[in-house]
Amino acid sequence: MEYVSTRGSSPQQTFEGVLLSGLARDGGLFVPAEWPQFEPSHIAALHGLSYTDTVVRIVRPFIEPSLVSDDDLSRIVAMAYSGFRDPAIAPLVALDEDTYLLELFHGPTLAFKDFALQLLGGLFDHVLGLRGERLTIVGATSGDTGSAAIEACRDRENLDIFMLFPEGRVSEVQRRQMTTVESENVFNISLRGTFDDCQDLVKAMFADQGLRDDLGLSAVNSINWARVMGQTAYYFSAATRTETLGQPLSFVVPTGNFGNVYAGYVALKMGLPIEKLIVASNRNDILYRFFDQGDMSITDVEPSLSPSMDIQVSSNFERLLFDLLGRDGPAVAEAMQAFRSDGRLPDSARLAADARGLFAAHRLDDQETIDVIRSVHQETGMLIDPHTAVAVGAARKTPRDGTKRIVLATAHPAKFPDAVEKASGLRPPLPDHLSDLLERPERAQTLDNDLDVVRDYVRKHATQRKVS
Ligand SMILES: *Cc1c(COP(=O)(O)O)cnc(C)c1O
Repeated sequence: MEYVSTRGSSPQQTFEGVLLSGLARDGGLFVPAEWPQFEPSHIAALHGLSYTDTVVRIVRPFIEPSLVSDDDLSRIVAMAYSGFRDPAIAPLVALDEDTYLLELFHGPTLAFKDFALQLLGGLFDHVLGLRGERLTIVGATSGDTGSAAIEACRDRENLDIFMLFPEGRVSEVQRRQMTTVESENVFNISLRGTFDDCQDLVKAMFADQGLRDDLGLSAVNSINWARVMGQTAYYFSAATRTETLGQPLSFVVPTGNFGNVYAGYVALKMGLPIEKLIVASNRNDILYRFFDQGDMSITDVEPSLSPSMDIQVSSNFERLLFDLLGRDGPAVAEAMQAFRSDGRLPDSARLAADARGLFAAHRLDDQETIDVIRSVHQETGMLIDPHTAVAVGAARKTPRDGTKRIVLATAHPAKFPDAVEKASGLRPPLPDHLSDLLERPERAQTLDNDLDVVRDYVRKHATQRKVS
């Protein structure tokens, strides 16, 4: 598989190039030059396979030809999901007569991001080892990516990881899952700014060619193609486990950076029958306004009960935009430039009209989110986290048409105990492997929202590791 940049002026890349560089040199995101196709018979053949065997089949066409042999891939995938605490890895449970929950929170850090990042960590390690290279991972997190990336990269010989998070805007559990990791190659940066500030700094560091070359900068945040591909697998796996195999399904996805729902779009492009992809937003509703009202304009980020979705600039949206603009890279570059300078995506009404055949969107405010957590608990006895609740609420706002819906449950309720307790009166306990999290010592460096300050910190610490 060859990969192209969404902005059209970087050379095509192999899978390894895409894996290791993250962002293209022209500032665009990598996407496959064409979509691998799964015929209905191939999809039916996934039925009954283990989760890891499904991942191998879905991922294989994206990485070949490559240094990663079939045996290596099977081993890397098996390792990636060995730390998950449910034998089904991504169990599918019924919520009501036509709605399922796909539980994506049984990984080491209790959020769906482990699915992509555990796989990514294994692939990085393997490919770097074969090439005799080392890399510096720099990422921005609104909460869950950080800990999942750190768990995926910690103690790996050929990697350093620097994670920026907005000071005071991630939950205590989320912060501690990052700052209590005692590994020499893990550097946490608590930034005096918002998540979008963190993301802008990361992008600015990537734009600094000198830094990029000196430190071998790479990304594991949701712009890395390998993450998208790791998430696409559970759309196939879930679809093959419903009783209505072969009939179109809808997926309801709580959305921030548009990575998870874009992975569903990829599944559709590969041949999975999908009726609708329903985008679920919290009060930071730029994607809802785009899909529902045809307006994509940036407003201020406001804290909500679902902090991992407190985002206004959804990086992965550019990948969908690339297709909406007929895979015209220069047109994407121009649109993105106008979006960043005017705060509004040009021509959004027409683009949204084209997208609406497949996408729909709903938004929930914090009160609605609490109400959903409470009513799901009353009706089913299940506790769900606020991100999942936004998606369940969006499913409920979607008119029923007989299509089965799968709601992606993206975090364990114990990750957001305050909201869950407020809604249900019950405080969900952390699973055993994290039960002493609140007592462990923390390590993080607080820095100003200033490119020079952050860049100097990264350079100094990454270089020291390189020399030693
Ligand atoms: C990251 C995250 C989301 C949003 O996913 P995107 O891929 O950024 O759209 C939703 N829920 C939880 C719990 C998350 O950690």
